[in-house]
Amino acid sequence: LGGSISRALQQMSNATVIDEKVLNECLNEITRALLQSDVQFKLVRDMQTNIKKIKGKTSVVMFVGLQGSGKTTTCTKYAYYHQKKGWKPALVCADTFRAGAFDQLKQNATKAKIPFYGSYMESDPVKIAVEGVETFKKENCDLIIVDTSGRHKQEAALFEEMRQVSEATKPDLVIFVMDSSIGQAAFDQAQAFKQSVSVGAVIVTKMDGHAKGGGALSAVAATKSPVIFIGTGEHMDEFEVFDVKPFVSRLLGMGDWSGFMDKIHEVVPMDQQPELLQKLSEGNFTLRIMYEQFQNILKMGPISQVFSMLPGFSAELMPKGREKESQAKIKRYMTMMDSMTNEGNSNPKLMNESRMMRIAIGSGRHIREVMEMLEEYKRLAKIWSKMKGLKIPKKGEMSAL
Ligand code: GDP
Ligand code: MG
Repeated sequence: LGGSISRALQQMSNATVIDEKVLNECLNEITRALLQSDVQFKLVRDMQTNIKKIKGKTSVVMFVGLQGSGKTTTCTKYAYYHQKKGWKPALVCADTFRAGAFDQLKQNATKAKIPFYGSYMESDPVKIAVEGVETFKKENCDLIIVDTSGRHKQEAALFEEMRQVSEATKPDLVIFVMDSSIGQAAFDQAQAFKQSVSVGAVIVTKMDGHAKGGGALSAVAATKSPVIFIGTGEHMDEFEVFDVKPFVSRLLGMGDWSGFMDKIHEVVPMDQQPELLQKLSEGNFTLRIMYEQFQNILKMGPISQVFSMLPGFSAELMPKGREKESQAKIKRYMTMMDSMTNEGNSNPKLMNESRMMRIAIGSGRHIREVMEMLEEYKRLAKIWSKMKGLKIPKKGEMSAL
């Protein structure tokens, strides 16, 4: 996986001009790599990054990342997440670089009722880390989380400090925390950390913001470690197990593809639609398919819910709070499409003004609306053409993917 992603990124950096085409190709490549290796990806994740709860054994997890990336916040979220699963976590503040670092951890930990360790006086991060880990081992905590300091920039001193803390505390797992907005810089950053400590997992924070988190792919490539969680807010419970499909969908601007497929499977068993499957994977989004999808959507019940998951259908066609109007619009579109079929030719490419006029008259609508419907078709066809080559899972394969 790391290999295919690196290759895709490499191809992009070799291109002389990064235009939309190059970018799309790269993203498609990455999507394919991610989807194809998703199973393997999960296995790797389970092996490398799922701290196993073994009686009597304490796991030490060290967090690294630049200042502001979200380490301290994420440490607490991680502790809280495991606490709910029956672990006995504890937090150690080994950030002696930033003033107020201990107070911040203390506040977070107190809120989550998680024991913490730190000092206002001690300036040696290695000493505190070791003391903290030893203290909590004695108290029979089974998950000791070590928060470390960051710097604004990548500096030799930071990496040396990380190396020392790691050597002294012997963590079972080192997690690299990155801000979703750092983009391509993630590669160098992650690589620099990887060179001083053995990073085994990545957490991407601030996914609630505008950034799509594409840099995470670079971090994955640089550290050869999977993303395990994402942060989706400042609060303790705004923390989710990483799921590759919604992540990639968001990256490509496709809505929640997997949620959509699940819903489709519920309403329209895919084995009854081999033709649709075939056409979609060929990237062949016809007017007929749009019509059938409209039909399915109307069948699917709480329409707004489904719409928000459908690639490309959400924002423009179906603004929030205007579901009734949108539903009426879809029905109108369908009437015009019926008229198109009745008129004997449903190929949108063979459209001209007199044909549009006949369709308008046939469906009792204005020619402007026919044009609008065709525009909508073009927009959707463009989005759905990105699905070309995408493996569409059969029912029952969804969870395995
Ligand atoms: P550190 O310097 O790496 O320890 O970063 P902090 O944990 O102090 O986080 C820096 C800022 O980012 C704080 O204001 C956090 O509240 C904020 N932050 C961290 N994670 C998230 C997240 O997932 N979403 C949002 N919106 N803010 C976050
Ligand atoms: Mg911090």
